[in-house]
Parts: sequence; C-alpha cells; structure tokens
Amino acid sequence: MDVSVVIPIYNEEKNIPTLYGRLSTVFAGLNLSSFEFVFVNDGSVDGSIELLKQLSNEHKHVAFVDLSRNFGHQIAVTAGLDHCKGERIIIIDADLQDPPELIADLLSKMNVGYDVVYAKRKARKGEGFMKRQTAKWFYRILDKITSVKIPVDTGDFRVISRRVLTVLQQMPEKEKFLRGQIAWMGFNQTFVEYDRDERNAGDTGYTWRKMIRFALDGITSFSNFPLKMASILGFAVSGISFILMLYALYSRFILKVYEPGWTSLMLSVLFIGGIQLICVGIIGEYIGRISNNVKQRPLYLVKETNSPSKDD
Ligand code: UDP
Ligand code: MG
Repeated sequence: MDVSVVIPIYNEEKNIPTLYGRLSTVFAGLNLSSFEFVFVNDGSVDGSIELLKQLSNEHKHVAFVDLSRNFGHQIAVTAGLDHCKGERIIIIDADLQDPPELIADLLSKMNVGYDVVYAKRKARKGEGFMKRQTAKWFYRILDKITSVKIPVDTGDFRVISRRVLTVLQQMPEKEKFLRGQIAWMGFNQTFVEYDRDERNAGDTGYTWRKMIRFALDGITSFSNFPLKMASILGFAVSGISFILMLYALYSRFILKVYEPGWTSLMLSVLFIGGIQLICVGIIGEYIGRISNNVKQRPLYLVKETNSPSKDD
C-alpha cells in the first residue's frame, strides 16, 4: 500500500460526503499505485457510522474502524494509524478545515527526502477570538518550557513515513500528543504553509474540557517545568515567610507591639495555603498520568472494522 489517509470522525455526518468527494478528486489526480482512506468513528452519536459503512461497501479503498465509545481525537487518530497499511500516512481532520487539495503538495515535498511534512497554518478563518488566542499562547508557552521543538501553529494535518509511524507505535505513553511525539523524533521534517479554512458544517468536537486536557497532556508529556516551578515557588514563599517570621519576633519582643495583626495573619495563611494547593495540584497532574500508564489498560476498543490490525 502506497498512501493511507487517516481521518478521525466525531459527529461529522454533514461533512463526510463532501470530504469523500474532495479526497477522491485529489487522489484521482495523484497517480498512485494504491491508496486507502481509513475512517475512525470515535463514538459519534449521529449517522456518521452508517455513512462510513456505506462508503466502505461501495469502494474497496475505504476502511472503517468503529470505536466502542468516544475516546477523543488523539486516540482516534492513533487507532487509525494502527489500522492503516500505507508506506506514507496522511492525517487529516474530517471537517475540511484542512484542505484535502494540500495533500498533493505534502506528498511531493516528502519525495524530496523527508520523513515528516506537516501543514503550517498561515491564517485561521472562522475560529473565535478565544480559540485563536488560547491556541497561540499555548504553543508559545509550550515552546518556552520544553526542550523539544514542537512547531507552532501546526495541528496534526501532515504526512509521515512508515518509519515514523513505527517509532510512534513503540512510544508506550497513554497520553497522546502526536504532534509533540513526532517532533521529538527528529529525522528530516519540514512544512508546507496553508490557510486554514472554516469548519464546513457541524460543530467542533473539542469542548473546553477536552482542550484543557489536551493542553495539560502536551505540557506534562514534554516538560517538567511545572514541577520545577512548584519547588521554586516553595522556596520563594518559604524565604518570604522566614523574613516575616523574624519581623514578627522582632516586633513582639523588641518593639513590644501587641496589636492583634489579624489582616497580616489571614493574608499569609491564605497565601501559603493557596501556593501549597497549587503545588499539590501540579504534582497530582503528573501522578495521575503515571497511574494511568501503570494501569496498562488498552488505549481504545474496536467495536467493528473491515480492516483488522494485527492486534484485532
Ligand atoms: N474528533 C474526534 N474525537 C473527538 C473530537 C474530535 O475524532 O472527541 C475529530 C473530529 O471529527 C475532526 C477532528 O477530530 O475530524 C478535529 O476536531 P474538531 O474539528 O472538532 O476540532 P477543532 O478543529 O475545533 O479544534
Ligand atoms: Mg476542526
């Protein structure tokens, strides 16, 4: 198999026909010996899976993997990667924010001798101010606190080689932050720029909850900076507390000041209490993820597929 396209699907019934049409047109012009589209249904509650099954009945290059429930975008993509057979693998969103027409550019750039060609967003249309700003700042902060160069303004829309996929599958972590994991590998990576379109139809499947979780996965997987920050904060606050302690003793025994000092007392108790809780919380984020990995549960479960992987 030459090229596989992996497409995660969460409530995309309105986009699947257009997406399939545009993908087909692109691939008709590519002159490939063989290719497949691997659609992963991530627990959609609309008619997506029926559409996918119908497509796979009509076209033999369409595979579907139906997950047992909603596992989230990154895991859905991982499931697709486990089920695809291509030498070169394309990851693309189903909502047509990633234009399928760019695939030709991605592939031809890869032929020059790259293992990864990712698509870098020049402009983002139709996304709210908050989404653009949070994404912008998240990637810039992540870049500051990690030693891995994770490209900014880049999603998972990309083409990767089989060799990169094999390494990806050997990375055992349960928290998937694919763009970071792929950046971590090195090899020859480059990018093609594009204008990100608006979502074609339907609503985003990324709720704020999922976005925050995704951001925390990215940070904790690639940086211990928050842990260091917890200890630095601890030292700084202890330093200040120690000076205040000396002052309290001085004012009690030398100046003989007996005022009750309720405000300063409350402030310091609240301040130290807050810092402590934050630090415990940060440690908790890491411990929670360690515990998640120790449990060794399967990452996802497949309900039905017409393209079994070696583990099915
Ligand atoms: N998606 C998924 N599972 C989810 C959420 C999203 O498989 O729990 C898919 C979705 O169908 C789409 C891609 O992941 O193909 C990107 O999601 P979306 O467009 O909702 O995210 P956004 O572009 O708003 O960040
Ligand atoms: Mg989208």
